[in-house]
Amino acid sequence: MRTVRSDEIEKLQRRVIACRLCPRLVRYCRQVAREKRRMYRGEEYWGRPVPSFGDPEAELLVVGLAPAAHGGNRTGRMFTGDRSGDFLYRALYEAGFANQPWSRHRGDGLALKNCYITAALRCAPPKNKPLPGELRNCQRYLERELELLKNVRAVLALGRIAFESYLRALYQPRANHASRAAARLTAATLPARRKVNLPLPPRSALKFSHGASYDLGNGLPRLFASYHPSQQNTQTGRLTPEMLREVLQAIQRYLRGSSL
Ligand code: SF4
Repeated sequence: MRTVRSDEIEKLQRRVIACRLCPRLVRYCRQVAREKRRMYRGEEYWGRPVPSFGDPEAELLVVGLAPAAHGGNRTGRMFTGDRSGDFLYRALYEAGFANQPWSRHRGDGLALKNCYITAALRCAPPKNKPLPGELRNCQRYLERELELLKNVRAVLALGRIAFESYLRALYQPRANHASRAAARLTAATLPARRKVNLPLPPRSALKFSHGASYDLGNGLPRLFASYHPSQQNTQTGRLTPEMLREVLQAIQRYLRGSSL
């Protein structure tokens, strides 16, 4: 059933797709889409910012790093069409957050259950390395999602950059820093539960490590952390299926109200 909230989320994602705030990334995504990897030569690449994906009523918000050049930037859906996506969606499926364990293309029937996937950055960065200014630019969309996704009770940050980006959206929303235009945008978009201005835990107490989880108080979602399921992490065994499964099981227990 369509709701005002799902309409707002769709509107936001249309703005994301049309966004051109980071010229370096816009150029790079288009270049990758033009040149293509040999094995995808016959495919039409997406080549633009990649919208978030999932259930607007979700209790779990997953924050990734950025689309991969030949993954999300090719298929137009978060974590779709590469090994990171295969790894993540299998784990989400096994934990009950997805209806199937694979993710090939936008029309493959994948649906998330009680889960919504976003990213710190919505354009693929060269060498997977975003610049600080690009992360700051893209933070506005994460802040707006935190405002719109009203049922979120758990946030899973995949990797240190996602972890820092989520905390920056809470501790340093763009309204404190930005131009008048950005301030106009963010005045309406700060995460609702932060507007009450209750103290957050000291920022220095929140450190990224795989398996960590934090209660931020103030009615904010509990924050969970995992290594990012990048090929580098999964192929070297830094992140195994078992390790990600354990984090997702802890989230399920938390959402069901059982002890962690
Ligand atoms: S990274 Fe984000 S802010 Fe930058 S162009 Fe892409 S969508 Fe826009």
